[in-house]
Amino acid sequence: MKKTEISKKLSSLKKELNDAQLVAVSKYSTVEDVVLAYECHHYDFGENRVQDLKEKTDFFFANNFKKVRWHFIGHLQTNKVRDLLKCQNLWAVHSIDSLRLLEEFLKRETDFLGNELKLFFQVNTSHETEKSGFESSEELLLAIKLLLSNPQSKYKLYGLMTMGTVRTDAFEEEARRCFKDLNRIARGLEEQLGLKFKLKLSMGMSQDYQIALAEGTDFVRIGSAIFK
Ligand SMILES: *Cc1c(COP(=O)(O)O)cnc(C)c1O
Repeated sequence: MKKTEISKKLSSLKKELNDAQLVAVSKYSTVEDVVLAYECHHYDFGENRVQDLKEKTDFFFANNFKKVRWHFIGHLQTNKVRDLLKCQNLWAVHSIDSLRLLEEFLKRETDFLGNELKLFFQVNTSHETEKSGFESSEELLLAIKLLLSNPQSKYKLYGLMTMGTVRTDAFEEEARRCFKDLNRIARGLEEQLGLKFKLKLSMGMSQDYQIALAEGTDFVRIGSAIFK
């Protein structure tokens, strides 16, 4: 891609965002295109496979691109957690989708290279079977309580993530329902747990980010609308 093209897409997207943060999902992109976006002063990038993330983080690290903040957004096998934690400049994981996965993160904490890692818990609001995420509010509550019971941990409870329904004719209506659900779950958890901070919301992709913005998201994760 041309730098001017990436620059144009980023700046027109950013005008729509208000206070929300853009995670540019680079999973379809070459590291060269990600570097072009970085040179346009965009620093937040998302990947959904550990191997792809590792290649890009290694390249960024070797080239001393220090401002980058990497976001992991994909489903994780527990045996990949260690490799993920060893990626340089990993800033957040949006896809903690089971208690078992969180337990693995806690067990592997010494592998993490940074000082703080922000965790989003993924909720399966669309209830599509191919999507991961917590289905039961009891398990979600248990997982969050487990994290909160480790206050000295480098992992910080940061927010909730979800994906809108894709396989549907009425995707807009369905996405809106999913995003409203996530918002409601977040506000409920804050109250139930007596949190002194608000849980951030990570929702909205290329096809439905405008709906997510209207529903008050804090992060959108956009790939194809930038890099394709
Ligand atoms: C790929 C992906 C995105 C971005 O999808 P686009 O449709 O390309 O914007 C966002 N979130 C997750 C979890 C993804 O896997």
